[in-house]
Amino acid sequence: MALKGKVALVTGSTSGIGLGIARALAAEGADIMLNGFGDAGEIEKLRSELAAEFKVKVEYDGADLSKPDQVAAIVKKTQVDLGSLDILVNNAGIQFVAPVEEFPEAKWEAILAINLSAVFYGMKAAIPGMKAKKWGRIINIASAHGLVASPHKVAYVAAKHGVVGATKVAAIELANDGITVNAICPGWVLTPLVQHQLEDRAKEAGTDVPTEEKKMLQETQPMLKFTTPEEIGALAVFLSSDGAATITGVPLPIDGGWVAH
Ligand code: NAD
Repeated sequence: MALKGKVALVTGSTSGIGLGIARALAAEGADIMLNGFGDAGEIEKLRSELAAEFKVKVEYDGADLSKPDQVAAIVKKTQVDLGSLDILVNNAGIQFVAPVEEFPEAKWEAILAINLSAVFYGMKAAIPGMKAKKWGRIINIASAHGLVASPHKVAYVAAKHGVVGATKVAAIELANDGITVNAICPGWVLTPLVQHQLEDRAKEAGTDVPTEEKKMLQETQPMLKFTTPEEIGALAVFLSSDGAATITGVPLPIDGGWVAH
């Protein structure tokens, strides 16, 4: 229970990687503020099950991270309702795929707002409280696409490279405040975000999802398997631990060798 007494806000934690991280932090004793979209009944079930399974406080707030005032508000709500905000995991994200010249402007704006600007607004709101306690962990979920590019993902790749840059700046500024700031850069993780891409690819190629899963991995990852949300959760737990006290400003690939080749 390395994180007992700590409070974590994990954005976009009703699904996929964020949920994996929230579960892993709760398993180590952290109280959790959940966030993200979904069916109200299912989210309440998830909230109460997490609280019962790990005997920690779990709250939920449905802030829309594309709105700067709602990002600041969920940070404040975490501090008021759970007493602190020690671990901020900026995870919420969306994807859209199209060539640059056809990329819809509204999708560009939405991806930049949720995948990049919300990271800035979240850090900005959380840092004063962490500085006051002289302890904090900021974990920004970037992507292998924060380090390398793929076609048809102009907004996503631009936003994720931006997340890596913002992570480095905050890490340098906070280096002597007891606060570390790192980016996790996953390769392929089989979440709804990737499932949609697989379904679109299968439709376009006249194949099926299992075929496209194999092709997707072969295109970019030497290791032909998906990273799991549990593995990313384990990395977030390590970055939150005392053992990681001097790891800061790092984009950490967890990607089956994607960016190594
Ligand atoms: P997902 O679609 O399963 O989960 C996304 C979460 O973000 C959901 O909880 C959703 O409700 C929430 N969300 C979306 N828009 C929101 C908004 N405006 N306000 C608040 N919450 C919002 O996707 P995922 O694959 O788990 O992605 C999580 C993060 O990991 C994203 O930042 C994504 O870019 C990143 N990532 C994913 C992969 C992958 O292969 N799945 C790889 C690298 C990075």
